[in-house]
Amino acid sequence: MADSFDVIVIGGGPAGYPAAIRAGQNKLTVACIDEWKNRDGSPAFGGTCLNAGCIPSKALLESSELFHRALHEFATHGLKLEGVGFDVATMQKRKAAIVRQSTQGILTLFKGAGVTPLTGHGRLLAGRKVEVTGHDGAKRVLEARHVVLASGSEPTPLRGVAFDGERIVDSWGALEFTEVPKRLCVIGAGVIGLELGSVWRRLGAETVILEALEQFLPIADGQVAKEAARHFKKQGLDIRLGAKVAGAEIRPDGIHVSYTDAKGAQALIVDRLVVAIGRRPFTTDLLGEGTGVTLDERGFIKVDDHCRTAAPDVWAVGDCVRGPMLAHKGKEEGVTVADRIAGLYGEVNYRTIPSVIYTAPEIAWVGQTEEQVKAAGRPYKTGSFPFAASGRARAMEAGAGFCKIVADAATDEILGIHVIGPMAGELIAEAVLAMEYSASTEDLQRTIHAHPTLSEAMHEAALAADKRAIDIPNR
Ligand code: FAD
Ligand code: NAD
Repeated sequence: MADSFDVIVIGGGPAGYPAAIRAGQNKLTVACIDEWKNRDGSPAFGGTCLNAGCIPSKALLESSELFHRALHEFATHGLKLEGVGFDVATMQKRKAAIVRQSTQGILTLFKGAGVTPLTGHGRLLAGRKVEVTGHDGAKRVLEARHVVLASGSEPTPLRGVAFDGERIVDSWGALEFTEVPKRLCVIGAGVIGLELGSVWRRLGAETVILEALEQFLPIADGQVAKEAARHFKKQGLDIRLGAKVAGAEIRPDGIHVSYTDAKGAQALIVDRLVVAIGRRPFTTDLLGEGTGVTLDERGFIKVDDHCRTAAPDVWAVGDCVRGPMLAHKGKEEGVTVADRIAGLYGEVNYRTIPSVIYTAPEIAWVGQTEEQVKAAGRPYKTGSFPFAASGRARAMEAGAGFCKIVADAATDEILGIHVIGPMAGELIAEAVLAMEYSASTEDLQRTIHAHPTLSEAMHEAALAADKRAIDIPNR
C-alpha cells in the first residue's frame, strides 16, 4: 500500500465516507481511516449514523409504528387481526441486518471509487502526516497533500448519572434493548428522546421524559411544537418540563432518579434510564503536537465557512465542527471539501439544511420559524393547511398536523416551511428545493401538485399565505 495520498480522511461516518468517495471520483488518491468497532468487536465504516444512529433508530421506529398501527388503526380500515404481538429479538435481528447491509455497502462504494479503507485510529501529526494505529496495535505514518478530519461526536454525559451500559445507557444502548422495559425514563426531550421514547412507548413501556427547559421543543416552530406536544401526550409519552435531574442510583427495586422542578424535589423509579441530553464533538487523541488545528471553547474543531481549519490544507467536516449535528449536513460538507480540494466549485448552503424528527406525526422543517422571523422584525405572512383537509391524508388515516409557510410580506420570498404530519420528512424536500432557488409563495402556488397527494398540503399552504387557498376557508 502507498505511504502517500492526495487526501486522507480520518473518520468514515456520513461526513467522512462521502468525502473519500468524492475525492476518488475526482481522480485523487485517497485513504479513509475509521476506528469504529461494533459490540461484537467487528470494525465497520459508517460511523454513528449507520451503526448506532439514523439507520438503526429508523428501523426500530418503523417496526414499532407498524405494531402501533396494527393495534390502534387497522380496525378503522375494517382489518381484523387477532393476537397481535411482537418479538423484540426479531425486530433487533432485522435492524442489525439493515445496519450490516448499509455498512458493508460502504466498502463496495470505496472499491468503486478507488478509496483505500483503513481500520484503526488516525492521528494528525504536524506537516499533514497521519499516524495510523491498527486494531492490532501496529503503527505506521502516512503522508497527504490534504487531510479531512471527520471524527464525529459522542453522547454528552450527565454528571451524577453514570452509564453502566445495561440499565443506564446512552442512545446506542437504548437501540439495543433486548426486551421492552416496563418503566423507562429518558433524560432530554430532544430529537433522540422523542424518537427513542416513541419506539419503546409504542411497544408498551411506561415512558417518562425529563426535560430541563420549561419550553417544549424550542428548536421547532412554536405552533408545530404545540401540536406535537398534544399528540405525544395522547400517545402516553409523559414529558415533564423544567425537570433538573440531580442524580440516579441503581437499587434492587430499580433505578432511582431524583430531579427538581417548579414544585420542588421529585423522585422516580424506573427499570431503564436513557441519557439523551445532546452530543459533543469527539476529538480524543486526534491531534498530535504542532498540527496548527485549533478547537473552540466547546471542543469543536474551528473552521471557516468552507470547512478549512487553521492549518493549511487540513479540513474538518460533520459533527466535529459547528452547525447542526445532522448526517446530511456532514455529507454535504464532506463532498464540498473534496470538490474544493480538486479545484472544483463547492458551497454548503447552511440556510437550507432540513431537520426531521421521525416521530408520529413526523416533524420536518427548513429555514426560519415564525418566532425567529418575528424577532428579526421582518414583516411576514403565514399560510397553513391542515392534513385533516387533505383527501390523501384522510384516506391514509393520517389527518393529524399541518403544513405551514412563513414568507416575507413585502417580497413574498419563502423564509421557512414547517410540516407536522404524515411523511413530513419526505415532503420537506420540496420546501428545501424551493428555498434553494429562493422561491416565493407564488412560485409554489403556480407549481402543479398531483392529486390526491400529501404534497398538495404544501401547495395549499402557499395559497393560504395570500388567502387564496381552495380547499379550506381563508381567514
Ligand atoms: P460520526 O457518524 O460520528 O462518524 C465519525 C467516525 O469517525 C466514527 O466511525 C468514529 O469511530 C470515527 N473516528 C473518530 N475519531 C477517529 C480517529 N481518530 N481515527 C479513526 N476514526 C475515528 N442525523 C440525521 O441527519 N438524521 C437522523 O435520523 C439521525 N438520527 C440519529 C439517531 C441517533 C440515535 C443518533 C445518536 C444520531 C442521529 N443522527 C441523525 C445524527 C447523525 O448520526 C450524526 O449527525 C452523524 O453521524 C455525524 O456524522 P460524522 O461523520 O460527522 O460523525
Ligand atoms: P438534542 O439537543 O436534540 O436534545 C437534548 C435535549 O436535552 C434538549 O431538549 C435539552 O434541553 C435537554 N437537556 C440538556 N441537558 C439536560 C439535563 N441536564 N436534563 C434534562 N434535559 C436536558 O440532543 P439529542 O436528542 O441528544 O440528539 C443529539 C444530536 O443528534 C442532535 O444534535 C440531533 O440533531 C442529532 N439527532 C438527529 C436526529 C434526526 O435528525 N432525526 C435524530 C437523533 C439525533
